[in-house]
Amino acid sequence: MKKDVYIPYLLDSIPTYDTVFRVTTNSPLLTPIESLKGVGKETANQLARLQLTTVNDMLEFWPREYEDRRNLPTIQAISKTEAIVTLKARIESLSTKQAGNKTHILKAKLADQTGEIEAVWFNQSFLKKVLKPGLTVIVSGKLEWNKFSQGMQLSVQSTDVCYPNQESPSEKIMPIYPLTQGLYQKKIRQVSQNCLSQFNKWIQDPLPEAFRTRFNLISRQEMIENIHFPNDEARFKNAKYRAIFEDLFWFQLPYFIRKTKKQNHLGTGALRTDGPLIKAYLEHLPYVLTNAQKRVINDIKEDAQGRTPMNRLIQGDVGSGKTDVAMVALLMAIESGKKGVLLAPTEILAEQHMIKCQERLAPLGIKTVLLKGKMKAKEKKETLEAIQSEGPLVIVGTHAIIEGPVKIVNLGLVIIDEQHRFGVMQRMKLQKKGDFPHSLFMTATPIPRTLLLACYGDLDQSVIDEMPPGRTPPRTYFGKEDKWDKVMAFCQNQIANTHQVYIVYPLVEESEKIDLRSAVDGWERLQIRFPDIKVGILHGKMKSEEKQDVMSKFRKNEIQILVATTVIEVGVDVPNANTMVIRHAERFGLSQLHQLRGRIGRGPGSCFCFLVADPKTETSNRRIKALLNSSDGFKIAEEDLQIRGPGEMLGTQQAGEIQLKVADLDRDQSVLKEVQKAIQMLLASDPNLTHPDHQAIAIECQTHNRITESVIN
Ligand code: ADP
Ligand code: MG
Repeated sequence: MKKDVYIPYLLDSIPTYDTVFRVTTNSPLLTPIESLKGVGKETANQLARLQLTTVNDMLEFWPREYEDRRNLPTIQAISKTEAIVTLKARIESLSTKQAGNKTHILKAKLADQTGEIEAVWFNQSFLKKVLKPGLTVIVSGKLEWNKFSQGMQLSVQSTDVCYPNQESPSEKIMPIYPLTQGLYQKKIRQVSQNCLSQFNKWIQDPLPEAFRTRFNLISRQEMIENIHFPNDEARFKNAKYRAIFEDLFWFQLPYFIRKTKKQNHLGTGALRTDGPLIKAYLEHLPYVLTNAQKRVINDIKEDAQGRTPMNRLIQGDVGSGKTDVAMVALLMAIESGKKGVLLAPTEILAEQHMIKCQERLAPLGIKTVLLKGKMKAKEKKETLEAIQSEGPLVIVGTHAIIEGPVKIVNLGLVIIDEQHRFGVMQRMKLQKKGDFPHSLFMTATPIPRTLLLACYGDLDQSVIDEMPPGRTPPRTYFGKEDKWDKVMAFCQNQIANTHQVYIVYPLVEESEKIDLRSAVDGWERLQIRFPDIKVGILHGKMKSEEKQDVMSKFRKNEIQILVATTVIEVGVDVPNANTMVIRHAERFGLSQLHQLRGRIGRGPGSCFCFLVADPKTETSNRRIKALLNSSDGFKIAEEDLQIRGPGEMLGTQQAGEIQLKVADLDRDQSVLKEVQKAIQMLLASDPNLTHPDHQAIAIECQTHNRITESVIN
């Protein structure tokens, strides 16, 4: 758990530390585990490997499964479908064996009045001295098929001996903890039991009693006890409920604090939405907006005219025309004498937006600056000066805008393009650059319903559900490597018909030398294959100017084939390019493939996508199939969710911010709703959590390890 960490902008006043925090610095729960009776140096070391050094760590270290020792089945009745089988039986005979020089195997024949079964212990040699024929044991483990003896055997994970004249081992529901080399269930159960019986009275509850009563939550103390050693089903169920509730509670609280603040704050003020600039912009466009674009712009107008800040998510599939919607929104800021920010996840996309602004906004007399990571000193100085002057300005840039120390003077609107590439906390940080500016978030990657509620519940939504006229969906083909020559011949043909081609190679990380080599090799070979065609290359290791130069040549059709890594994955818009070849397509994620394919089909006429791949796993086959079957981003996103699960859908940035311990955003939707209701009620009466009853919540929220340190500065 991270300590002494707080997020200055979440709450106005930070409660003092020495009040009721459940793990204050002098809490007995911070007693080193090593000082407990029965924990020797060796056990302490093993526990430390599981990151367990204090009593509190142990209390927070939860079982991964349970074994139910009430009503143990007879040997005859054991069910082969159970994940963990527990038996009480007598040891009939024993034998030991050494397999290789590593694995120690102990075998026994177990029997009860109904039958016999073979049991096997791997690498638990200490039991050699403990187990004796004639003793009764309670063992639990997995049932496995033994190839050699052609029968079922029990691979034992935990063992308890029932000695004749001693109290017999517990026949309750027992925890099964994750283990580490040399540590056994029996030992860690002892430690955990010890921690509970000695220290449970020190467990503090951050949730006040009235709140718990209102939302049917048992105390934290009772929860911890029953998570480790469930007393019965009902209490275990309550414990699990509280654990899930709390998990979601800490995860959701920051969003809602932020949302409440926003609602109670007037922010940057209304924007002018019907000025001459917007009119002029639309008149100069070489096309008319689609109805969907118009509708979304109207949504934005309504928000921007309001006194409270806009907070809207715009979803529209690749190529649906989100950039124009963004431009019109930026004009609302300019027309109101304010600044507007357009943030992009890659430098290439930021550059492209910059070019668009120069083409379409400069003629209207609007100034645009570009802010990115690496800039010449003089350029940077001028840009920063412009940002800090009073006047209206469009600022296009990469995450350098967020990271930079500058406040943006007179900021009316922020837009994040391809918002799924950013973390939720980055979203909050950008908004902090001004005085609660209006905010728009644009994405082509539909957000799964489960995540919508949890991570985007504070946003209004609009959807661009229509493509500009004349677009035909890409024709997608799949072929193995041996089709390469055919595919290349096709490309040559397209180029002869004045079109352009992308050829994309996988590059897992920008530092992967072998991958990069294969892209560069491919580029070199293509130059030899097509001596009359200009072939360019683009990857993340190139200098900024080189990248700009290549993109600009590709845009002007001075380059016909662009060999690239995934740097072109999002946003890149060159309508004349109508063919996309993806090499080793099995190595790309599904939404990544969809985004890449979205680089084509941005103008009139047919377009073609070739997946050249050698898929070996079931999931890579599924991904390719999904792409062949559909070009609808929503359908593809659903399939992607099925394949990957919600955690990964968020992308690395956001997944890092959601570290749920027990809750599952899909399974626990109804608890999530309850949690959100609870938080809203809490904040309605006490938006800054200053009431003495809520101090522990406030502190816990600030310190909670779920909120990563990177957002704290
Ligand atoms: P995305 O939603 O993927 O960001 P863009 O804004 O880049 O899409 O638009 C894709 C292409 O479609 C661009 O070349 C753009 O100029 C063009 N476009 C946008 N809106 C229209 C429209 N209403 N009619 C015709 N072409 C359009
Ligand atoms: Mg775009």
